[in-house]
Amino acid sequence: MRITGWTGARGSSLQGQYNRRMRSPGMQVVLAAGVAAALVCASGSACRRRPFAGPVALVTQRTASGANPRVATLALGGETRAALVESASFLVDLPARPLLTFGIGLGWTGDGDAPGWYRLTVRADDHVLAERTLNPRALREWRDVSVPIEGGARRATLAFDLRFTDRDGRVLPLPPGLVLGVGDPVLHDLDAYGRYRSVLLVSIDTVRRDHVGAYGYARPTTPRFDALARAGLVFDDAVSPSSWTLPAHLSMLTGVDPGRHGGIDMRHGFNRSVPTVPALLRASGFATRAVTSHLYVSSVYGLDDGFEHLDFRQDRKATEVADRGMDVLDRVGDRPFFVFLHLYDPHWHYDPPDWARRLFETAYAGSVTGNWQDFSRRERGAVSDADLAHLLALYDGEIRYADTEVGRVLDHLAARGLDRSTLVVITSDHGEEFLDHGSWEHQKTLYEEVVRVPLAIRGAGLEPRRERAQVSTLDVAPTILAWAGVPVPASVTGRSLLGPLTEREAYGETDHTVDGTHKLFLRGGASRWKTILTLSADGKETRGEEWYDLSSDPAERKSVPPAPTVADPIRRRALERWRSDRGAGGAARPVCLSPEQRERLRALGYVSGGSDEGCRER
Ligand SMILES: [Zn+2]
Repeated sequence: MRITGWTGARGSSLQGQYNRRMRSPGMQVVLAAGVAAALVCASGSACRRRPFAGPVALVTQRTASGANPRVATLALGGETRAALVESASFLVDLPARPLLTFGIGLGWTGDGDAPGWYRLTVRADDHVLAERTLNPRALREWRDVSVPIEGGARRATLAFDLRFTDRDGRVLPLPPGLVLGVGDPVLHDLDAYGRYRSVLLVSIDTVRRDHVGAYGYARPTTPRFDALARAGLVFDDAVSPSSWTLPAHLSMLTGVDPGRHGGIDMRHGFNRSVPTVPALLRASGFATRAVTSHLYVSSVYGLDDGFEHLDFRQDRKATEVADRGMDVLDRVGDRPFFVFLHLYDPHWHYDPPDWARRLFETAYAGSVTGNWQDFSRRERGAVSDADLAHLLALYDGEIRYADTEVGRVLDHLAARGLDRSTLVVITSDHGEEFLDHGSWEHQKTLYEEVVRVPLAIRGAGLEPRRERAQVSTLDVAPTILAWAGVPVPASVTGRSLLGPLTEREAYGETDHTVDGTHKLFLRGGASRWKTILTLSADGKETRGEEWYDLSSDPAERKSVPPAPTVADPIRRRALERWRSDRGAGGAARPVCLSPEQRERLRALGYVSGGSDEGCRER
């Protein structure tokens, strides 16, 4: 927590920030500008509509008494907002469909925990819009509130009443060092939502393609994904350029191979050698926000590059990601936006809510649990059919739970009218192994169960299409840029999926092996072959080769190399790509984890070979 820049008056740049964005070039207005208006009644009989000059940042307005509100800049949970820090009332014109958004937060510079209780009441005239009592000791990030103002009034007094009290509600003097804040209070016009081309990217971690209904899975794991796939583009053969979270997400956000962006093991993050999608969109005037659930998708590894704010908390549940995602959509829906949501639930440990678990399993009497430390130690011979079915039921329950929460966000998108202008992309970073090749989980191998992922895209004007050609999640970045009308930089290896596609070879790799070797694959395209190569730790020698004819052996049961005339050029292209990526990438950016962060990753099953050379313990 940090408090800076007492402005005391109208010093906030919030309104300017809105206005600047609204005027930025390159924005595409997709709907006729149905300018919302407030009615202006000159004499009580002759009323006409006056344009609503929103969104209105209330910290920049004079109060009802004509004074300037007391405003400070508060930083909480890594997000800085201009905040009202005293009770204030504003007499405002309202649009026909007003929505008020604000965050509740505080600043505390004293020792120990902030004392007392924070009570906030927000009224529109005499009507209570929101009432909250918060324990300052638990308020570690902005708590967002989004409330429509109903009743059709043309003008109202919006009053924010901030009180510091004891547990029983008795008002106490504010102690030194404590500041109660209402962050970024903004009055929006719901009729302006959906006016700009925008993007919602959803990555549900660890969803293997063959556990998704749209790809023929018999269990109802993904009704919301399936519905979106029917209404948009669904990609039959999408692969990820890696089999674990960090490189796969960085590739999704940059459109380049892991060796190029540098996030290749738990000791290295984004090398910032190429622009990210959020950075490019932000430069074009988009609001860029993310809500994520794993350290690999956080600022620690450079995944916040280009985001105005990346809201990260380790292991948060899908319900919280959805709730915070909807708050974000409410805050930015009247501007062009790029919102990225990362849900972690299907990743081990498999522990779905009871309702989702019961969908796929009603009786299991064995001892295996979905906890990674438990099941990952068991080898194939020690696992019965019932045990495996139990783990799959838990995994499927997690997928269903995440799909349901994504569905809540999609419903919210529609309720706010944002679905008419928002490109929705839903995919996963990698799959998951359940003894398919004798092991569990992902990251160590590059077999089909860990590199094939679901991918569907829906957007206004996109004709529904089932695409058979092989695509990669490298293609997500240029697809988003193409939709937004932002030029695709030359660094991008992927291609936009919005137009007709031809077959193209897919490449991927992992350095997250237990023995420090590198693995890479080249798959499909004009060929029916997939090769997986294993390189020595120094990358100079090929230690192993596997070859699968995917047309006759799609489950990769037996490695059989093709004739040298077929194998040699594929092998050469694979090795050239691995080496040229590393030659073209920027300087490696070491990530120095705290002992707690490293232990947390180890507990989750992430173990890298090598040392933390160059990093000092913090
Ligand atoms: Zn992952």
